[in-house]
Amino acid sequence: MLKKITIFLLLIFIFLTIIYSFFYASFNLDIEVLKPVSDGLRPLTTKNFTFRRVFNLNQPGDAKSDYYSSKQFTKLKVEVYSSSHGNFYGTSQKTIGEGVEGVLNKPEGISIKEMRLEKVPNIVSDDFIDNLTNDIPKYSNNTAVMKIYLLSTYEPHPTLTGLTAGAYGFVIFKNSIEESSEDVSIRERLEKNTILHEVGHLLGVKHIEKDRCVMDKIVDVPGRGRINLIPTEYCFYDLQAIQDANI
Ligand SMILES: [Zn+2]
Repeated sequence: MLKKITIFLLLIFIFLTIIYSFFYASFNLDIEVLKPVSDGLRPLTTKNFTFRRVFNLNQPGDAKSDYYSSKQFTKLKVEVYSSSHGNFYGTSQKTIGEGVEGVLNKPEGISIKEMRLEKVPNIVSDDFIDNLTNDIPKYSNNTAVMKIYLLSTYEPHPTLTGLTAGAYGFVIFKNSIEESSEDVSIRERLEKNTILHEVGHLLGVKHIEKDRCVMDKIVDVPGRGRINLIPTEYCFYDLQAIQDANI
């Protein structure tokens, strides 16, 4: 009898392992035949926090409901990791407090916590960013966490100003912003724009082709006198895209 139960439990264990491996591979490995499974199930599963943790769902947009909705998390803590390569402009702190808060449903508000990164190279590769950003943040009670990393230069694309790092954060490349213009007000606008753009990705929005919208793929850095061409607020189409991504 005991032997039968053992075999039965073993079979159940093997069965569950196969099921888990199948879904884990569908969601996390880039296997072409499994793509329809991932694409079809992903939107249904991202709302469930536990499921997301169990299956390691960590692509931009996977945590959108943590940020957008007030159902499970009524507060947001933004962790800003700065390095010796620079800090945020003061206006960027405000952008997180006001510009970002405006599109999130967080009745208890957003808090910002500054942290320090040591020994960060000047030029960073994808591997470096993956290693730095792959740990999923620790939420507490009703507080979701978003992480922002201030690094210097992105090796594969040195003029890039921002990049999402998984579902829970993004990188700002300070050197690209500093070199974009001699005019500090333009640099500030570009940093603000980049923050809003990357938050848009974390909320599940892809690029939209509309000039002067934050979620447009390309930002033109204009010469002096035309600085208002860099959008620093979500436009109508951005807001609609954020809403559509979170139905
Ligand atoms: Zn983008």
